[in-house]
Amino acid sequence: MSDYEALRQQHVAHAVALTPRLIEQLDWPAERLAAYRTARLRELVRAATGRSPWYRKRLADVDIDRLDETTLAELPVLTKAELMEHFDGIITDRRLSLARLEQHLGAVETGSYLFGRYTAITSGGSTGQRGVFVYDWDSWAVFWLSIVRGVLRVKLADPALAGRPAVLASVAAAHFSHGTAAMARTFAGAHLTGIRLPVTLPTEEIVAGLNDAQPDFLLAYPSVLYILAREALAGRLRIAPRRILAGAEPLLPEIRAAAEQAWDGKVINVWGMSEGGGTAAGCDQGSTHISEDQLIVEPVDLAGRPVAPGERSAKVYLTNLYNLALPLIRYEITDEITVLPDPCPCGSAHRRIADVQGRLDDVFVYPGIRVHPHLFRSELGREAGVIEYQVRQTPAGAAIAVRCTAPVSLDRLRDRVAAALARSGLERPQVIVEAVDRLERLGGPAKLKRFLPLDRVPAPLNTGR
Ligand SMILES: [Zn+2]
Repeated sequence: MSDYEALRQQHVAHAVALTPRLIEQLDWPAERLAAYRTARLRELVRAATGRSPWYRKRLADVDIDRLDETTLAELPVLTKAELMEHFDGIITDRRLSLARLEQHLGAVETGSYLFGRYTAITSGGSTGQRGVFVYDWDSWAVFWLSIVRGVLRVKLADPALAGRPAVLASVAAAHFSHGTAAMARTFAGAHLTGIRLPVTLPTEEIVAGLNDAQPDFLLAYPSVLYILAREALAGRLRIAPRRILAGAEPLLPEIRAAAEQAWDGKVINVWGMSEGGGTAAGCDQGSTHISEDQLIVEPVDLAGRPVAPGERSAKVYLTNLYNLALPLIRYEITDEITVLPDPCPCGSAHRRIADVQGRLDDVFVYPGIRVHPHLFRSELGREAGVIEYQVRQTPAGAAIAVRCTAPVSLDRLRDRVAAALARSGLERPQVIVEAVDRLERLGGPAKLKRFLPLDRVPAPLNTGR
């Protein structure tokens, strides 16, 4: 057994040991959750001001013993740009730095823990700006459990699944620098046997892989789920998952309906992100509940004022209570959410949110094949120098604009994207990669439309060079 595998097995055992408590917390009453959050918030701020030079200065005036969710709202907001700029001062282990994490991420295929305990992931996020996040031993297990604990509760209560690990098939990210792929690798074997089908494979290969695996649970991006539901309704995909997990993109009503029709199964929506893990996760009543034992989620308007239940927020301030390695306190996420005012019939006291209705990353349709945006996201996310990007579909491929902070080999990036497109079945793909100083933002200054399918590319086209 390799050193990595031995360490990973210890991590699996740790996650299994944590599971009953994390499942139990799903049933805690609201007062108990609130008291727990306050206690953990104080612990978080104590750790941040104790070990992070940047937070020590920034939160110098905070009276930690009086801090609660009301006074939290007086603390400054942390943006992603600020996080990346002050990363080395924010992180709580002085051996870590952004450069050290980037170096680690560059070799992540081999499987390893940084300093024997850290896992790093990257994210494009909804605005297209690259982020790097790091979790320690304990918080990485909680990250995973916050996403799968609902499914584990089903698994552990099902006599048919009692004697064996359940099979969870993930049709998700192809690269281990991405949260879903990274956690599937770390925790393979913890209650679940993971089957991973990269979303960048051609649809027929994904269908064949799923028919082979006969998963008990299926996890997929909504855009893929939609394609798979149609494959199932056409009779080509023949699986019977007990639960279907959807995440990383908005679960549009027509996608939820198609999946429910195809499998007669319950669709669990997961609002997952690199910054918070399972920030909200679905129950069997079709609601999506915020992980209110692990996070403080403040829905706010554009000016940062709290919005009332029932109203859609413009963004969210997230405080991650469980990751002390990289403290995120009132971290700005540009997702729009609506907290629902009524309680859920399932009885959970965790507040619930409506399915996020924001934009869906569009699938590019070429003659005979469909290409998931993750193909581009995955290749672009591997380039540490690329901080923002925009991908426009062209008739024979794509034109990619990148904003770089460090030298990037545009030719190598172009060749990698072209090779990935060819593997997806696109013949002789034409790819253009161009470095730009700024990206065109459609529909307001905050949101960057990262993927522009052919029918949405605004004229005039600028792809001929
Ligand atoms: Zn519920």
